Amino acid sequence: MINIAIDGPSGAGKSTIAKIVAKKLGITYLDTGAMYRAVALYVVNKGKDPSIEEDVAPLLSEINISYIKKDDDNLICLNGCDVSEEIRRHEMSKYASQVSKIPAVRLFLVDMQRNIASNTDVVLDGRDITSYVLPDAKHKFYLTADAEERAKRRCKELAEKGQEMPYEQVLQDIKDRDFNDMNRSFAPLIKTADSIEIDSTHMTLQEVADVILNNVEIKNPQENYEEKSLAQIKDVNAAVSKQIKQRTKQNKPNIFYRGLANFVRWAMGAVWTTRIYFADRFPKNSKAIVICNHYSALDPCVIMSKVLGKNGKVLMKYEVMKNKFVGKVATAIGAIPVKRGEADVNAVKSILGALGKNQPVLIFPEGTRNKSGNKELLPFKSGVATFAIKSKSPIVPMLYYKKTGIFKRNKIIVGTPFWLDKFYGQKVGDVKEEATDYIFEKMQELRAELDILVEKCHGSKKKYLKYKKNQSMELCANVGESRKK
Ligand code: C5P
Repeated sequence: MINIAIDGPSGAGKSTIAKIVAKKLGITYLDTGAMYRAVALYVVNKGKDPSIEEDVAPLLSEINISYIKKDDDNLICLNGCDVSEEIRRHEMSKYASQVSKIPAVRLFLVDMQRNIASNTDVVLDGRDITSYVLPDAKHKFYLTADAEERAKRRCKELAEKGQEMPYEQVLQDIKDRDFNDMNRSFAPLIKTADSIEIDSTHMTLQEVADVILNNVEIKNPQENYEEKSLAQIKDVNAAVSKQIKQRTKQNKPNIFYRGLANFVRWAMGAVWTTRIYFADRFPKNSKAIVICNHYSALDPCVIMSKVLGKNGKVLMKYEVMKNKFVGKVATAIGAIPVKRGEADVNAVKSILGALGKNQPVLIFPEGTRNKSGNKELLPFKSGVATFAIKSKSPIVPMLYYKKTGIFKRNKIIVGTPFWLDKFYGQKVGDVKEEATDYIFEKMQELRAELDILVEKCHGSKKKYLKYKKNQSMELCANVGESRKK
């Protein structure tokens, strides 16, 4: 597949350039910003606040994005209606930027974008394509321009659509969006080390497109563009609808159990105070396999109450749950009993069922408690890899910084979610060992990030917040580079 990834800040001309490049090469153009805008539009039309995770995440299962071809453009449809004009309204830029910070939204759209890229020759533009969506793409570009120049271009574009806006306001909006995009913890906008940077401040569109085309060097651009691109759009829609079919609606537990679970969570929160570093990377209301090191028997309780929340599930030894009372409480919190040392079909069904209902599931990949903590992880069992491949779920790595203790402040760092998509379509039995090694590597990456954090912040909340604000770019760039090594 030909995948060309273009990232850059708002108004750098990415979409116009990407369209020229796609047309020249006879491949599809996918505007990922339009997807975030479509989600934002749906949320606002429902009367909900696009910046509130609890408002937005539950709506994702109602959203269906597809494309129709019109002349040289791919029009974006939201639940079957063409919204390509509506999503370009000025205020939608701000709303799109707000929803894009929500991890569940990112996972939902990134999964869709990856599905499309693995089935179609495509130019994708956005903010996280080179770093997160397609880190292994062969062709990567970072397109930028001075903020003032970008504001001028945006004003012109808006004026052409009859939406006059004061230059100063457009400039401020662009700067705000740059800040949001570059400073979120989950997949922020960065220039990866292997992207070619193009500063378009003093360049024409054609000059920029030529730089890309000269670097891409595709031997035989596809002929019959019109015909081919129609077929490609069908592929894009097929990839999206496949993903939508996999989604199922969520069943809520009954009111008695919800009440019991709430009480237990409250009690846990009062006893085990916990600081979560990079909590904003955790995808609430999304399917995810959460993995963590396991120091003590209290770990599952803390993680369930502080991170996974009401929707979460956790694997628990069957023996513990045999006691009627403990079993009831554990079930209320989200425990799935598992009989260790045997093929527990019911546990497997429950895990895959929970993921199918967009619930996060906590699994300790070491399989047992490890008192030496996050420094010396025990070898991982292959269960996580098996479930992640079968259910196509993202994995969220997490690490306890220190041993859990009653009335002590616990510290947990959340890593950026990742997928095992390079193993999809293969026999799980053949790849589960390799996939498990990959998961282990990801956990080591998180440990390196934790080490930096501990060294710079010495456990102080103030220092952490300052560090997060100032250093997230540097940190993410380091992580992005180490991923490529
Ligand atoms: O590119 P566009 O301005 O249409 O994107 C709208 C917003 O969507 C951006 O400001 C950004 O916050 C978000 N976005 C994103 N990741 C992408 C594409 C867009 O976060 N890949």
